[in-house]
Amino acid sequence: MPRTIEHWIAGASTPGSSTRRGPVWNPATGEQQAEVVLGTAADVDLAVKAAAKAFETWCDVSVSKRAKILFAFRELVNKHVDDLARLVTAEHGKVLSDARGEVLRGLEVVEFACGIPQLLKGEFSEQVSTGVDSWAFRQPLGVVAGITPFNFPVMVPMWMHPIAIACGNTFVLKPSERDPSPSRLVAELWQQAGLPDGVFNVVHGDKEAVDALLDHPEVAAVSFVGSTPIASYVHERAAKAGKRVQALGGAKNHAVVLPDADLDYAADHITAAAYGSTGQRCMAISAVVAVGRSADPLVEKLAERARAVKVGPGDDAGAEMGPLVTQQARDRVVSYVDAAERDGATVVVDGRGLRVPGHEGGFFAGPCLVDHVTPAMKVYQDEIFGPVLVVVRVKNLDEAIELVNANPFGNGTALFTNDGGAAREFQRRVSVGMIGINVPIPVPMAFYSFGGWKASLFGDRHIHGPEGVSFYTRAKVVTARWPHVEVGGEGSASFHFPSSG
Ligand code: NAD
Repeated sequence: MPRTIEHWIAGASTPGSSTRRGPVWNPATGEQQAEVVLGTAADVDLAVKAAAKAFETWCDVSVSKRAKILFAFRELVNKHVDDLARLVTAEHGKVLSDARGEVLRGLEVVEFACGIPQLLKGEFSEQVSTGVDSWAFRQPLGVVAGITPFNFPVMVPMWMHPIAIACGNTFVLKPSERDPSPSRLVAELWQQAGLPDGVFNVVHGDKEAVDALLDHPEVAAVSFVGSTPIASYVHERAAKAGKRVQALGGAKNHAVVLPDADLDYAADHITAAAYGSTGQRCMAISAVVAVGRSADPLVEKLAERARAVKVGPGDDAGAEMGPLVTQQARDRVVSYVDAAERDGATVVVDGRGLRVPGHEGGFFAGPCLVDHVTPAMKVYQDEIFGPVLVVVRVKNLDEAIELVNANPFGNGTALFTNDGGAAREFQRRVSVGMIGINVPIPVPMAFYSFGGWKASLFGDRHIHGPEGVSFYTRAKVVTARWPHVEVGGEGSASFHFPSSG
């Protein structure tokens, strides 16, 4: 019998009421290593009720006490970086160094949330009218839910729960059913940090659990990160149920390379950004836009580097790229490269048939580089979420910007150039939320907010950073007068709308 991964509700492990289970694979071997319980609406209700009960007291815990728990959690996560990374590698498949990187980027959000006393400072205006003061402050929403994707099982939930909890909310996490184990360790670390039971809960599951969260009347807000079709669905359904919602979707991130760029530098960085984590990053570079005469030498350099990528199991210290997350994800990569070939593109580097000795059952595909791709091809239009880099050739910067802007996604983009004027033009004109100038994966630091435009984000607030604090709180403005200390007749009631005129 495989190991069973259970929910974490009100500070304890529970199998819940469901009889449904999902497989958890070892992507490097293709074997099932565990099963995860797939929660029902009743399990979700239990978790939300536990969170609602915990909110009654957690919202009154002083901000400095909350910060102390955050600091303790920070220490514990820091101490367990390698344990968390090992769990990520075992179920996601990414190489250990990359898994460590993900945990450290999540940790940065915890560190940001440690500053909650500063982040929640309100505003105060003295004497807005004679004898009248006015101030604004922010309060937590209540029970908030996070629904997260498989590709960053530690970092993406950490974009959410440290800030939500620091703001005084209680949290129900529905992690990806493909790599559920890291969330369990995170829950235990919160408990060890002194977080009261019920403030952080984990319900495993699939659509059934997600729908139950979206419809639950006691869930005040939903943060979602995943693919665009599901993000759009979650946004609509949660908004219809009256919840605040931010839903981050998929991407097709372009790297535009101008002829004046250092092509070796660009090729090095684009290769790492395209094939790192086997292309399973929402900020992966999946399309190169080669401008003018940069194209031929750039493709040559990209091909050289793609062929040199070391592919192997995630726990092999020599590997740079691991397997795909599932057999279906691997087959999808192959089918898109097949389609590109049929559509007339040139497959310069072909990773479709790659086999890793000793890991023949693993979900591996090697780096693929596809040249002479046009915007009409499926391989360009869709997010493949695998190690497939396509090259579209254009004449000039204007054409490159047009191409980026015509794409329905708007998560990240990068420009490689030595021309400051071109860079300025590019960053002003592209319809994309996160832009790198000679930086291939421009993921903002935790103290900025992360989010794309267009089909990459549904909702009006980006995630973590200041917009995260804003998302997890709502503002009150107080206008106050103490009539007994007033001098003169200003305090008399009036039927006209008060103004300063
Ligand atoms: P996914 O959309 O399949 O799943 C995300 C979450 O939604 C999971 O928890 C899953 O259980 C749930 N879900 C799946 N199908 C559902 C359905 N029909 N109804 C309700 N809930 C459902 O995404 P994934 O494959 O886990 O992750 C990869 C995707 O996430 C990619 O598209 C990637 O670009 C995107 N992503 C985006 C960002 C970002 O910041 N914009 C970050 C990471 C990943």
